[in-house]
Amino acid sequence: MNVLLLGSGGREHALAWKIAASPLLTRLYASPGNPGIGSVAELVKLDIADHSAVAAFCREKKVDLVVVGPEGPLVAGIADDLRAWGIRVFGPSKAAARLEGSKGFTKDLCAKFNIPTAAYGRFSDLASAKAYVEKTGAPIVIKADGLAAGKGVTIAMTLEEALAALEACFEGAFGVAGAEVVVEEYLTGEEASFFCLCDGATALPFGTAQDHKRVGDGDIGPNTGGMGAYSPAPVMTPEMTERTMREIIEPTMRGMANIGAPFAGILFAGLMITDQGPKLIEYNTRFGDPECQVLMMRLKDDLLVLLNAAVDGQLAHMSARWSDEAALTVVMAARGYPGTPEKGSVIRGLEQAGGEGVEIFHAGTAINGGALVANGGRVLNVTALGATVGEAQKKAYAALDHIDWPQGFFRHDIGWRAVEREKAGAYPHP
Ligand code: AMP
Repeated sequence: MNVLLLGSGGREHALAWKIAASPLLTRLYASPGNPGIGSVAELVKLDIADHSAVAAFCREKKVDLVVVGPEGPLVAGIADDLRAWGIRVFGPSKAAARLEGSKGFTKDLCAKFNIPTAAYGRFSDLASAKAYVEKTGAPIVIKADGLAAGKGVTIAMTLEEALAALEACFEGAFGVAGAEVVVEEYLTGEEASFFCLCDGATALPFGTAQDHKRVGDGDIGPNTGGMGAYSPAPVMTPEMTERTMREIIEPTMRGMANIGAPFAGILFAGLMITDQGPKLIEYNTRFGDPECQVLMMRLKDDLLVLLNAAVDGQLAHMSARWSDEAALTVVMAARGYPGTPEKGSVIRGLEQAGGEGVEIFHAGTAINGGALVANGGRVLNVTALGATVGEAQKKAYAALDHIDWPQGFFRHDIGWRAVEREKAGAYPHP
């Protein structure tokens, strides 16, 4: 098979690495890719927003499958266009990608199909949103409806913060994404990421993870796209997984089919495990980054076989096998992230850092004058497998020690919650 992978992050490097290991693969193309992806794929320059140009490339190179990494092209309808032109695509339609593209859409779906989630209101004007917030009180959560690169959510602990967030949204802080706002109940509990591989009718559980969103050790400081992750998520016990499938994922699959937008692709549920059980915080319609990196390390089966089954509506006959080992990834970021990262600094020592059960996935890297340099906020994902999260953590940090990049930084405590649980003897669960 010839495969075209779209995207350029650590998520796409992990996908490329796994796809490249498939005996089914003839050629792997990636666009725009990055130097890490370039070690396993042929990088091609395509304007991904120009769907007809992507289709023309697929015809020319006889591409049998397009795998879409990020949400942007999905929400823009790339899967619909390519399919209409007879090209097989892994990724949801524009209508199904509304699960990520519109928070209000997802909340209404939850309400209609009785899916547990935070109580909410949807607003398109400041006055009625303010009235709702004043009536409900703080803490409360304010969300721009559309895609805002992970920045559209404010957890307001006071009424003043909530009102300021509403004003910012309606004044255009998130552009059109904030023209509508979802205001929701503040949930407490432990968060987990739950993934399913879907073919429109069947959802196959596809791993669990937990990530660290805050930039600083001890989970403090500004939010980021994710500073590290590990898999599996200890809170996702077999019982919690079964409840999540029954109460959240399966009604979503039925609901989406019911409204004429069957979901095929990766359904990534952000969950809050509350005293009453799992509640949906949000859906994403693609793999998480850096969650994908730890999932790919643990997946024992051929990813390409599974992606094909999802595209062909054959998941009812499939299963996915996972390593019993834990995986953990530490993100190395460029100084300045999540604000304005410094670009161009030279990174050395990657060759010494690799090893058995260790993979270094590239995110924002580039080659400049023959040297590997930082070219974005999140730059490298140092990823390791271990018998426990603690072992994986030790291995990842030992590998990271070999990387010579003074302008980079990372968190020193990725996985701390799971490691504490392990020390207390409460994990892994059976
Ligand atoms: P989202 O972009 O919707 O995933 O929100 C980003 C982060 O905000 C989540 O990962 C949670 O940590 C937090 N969050 C979102 N919604 C809620 C909520 N209703 N209650 C508590 N925390 C929330």
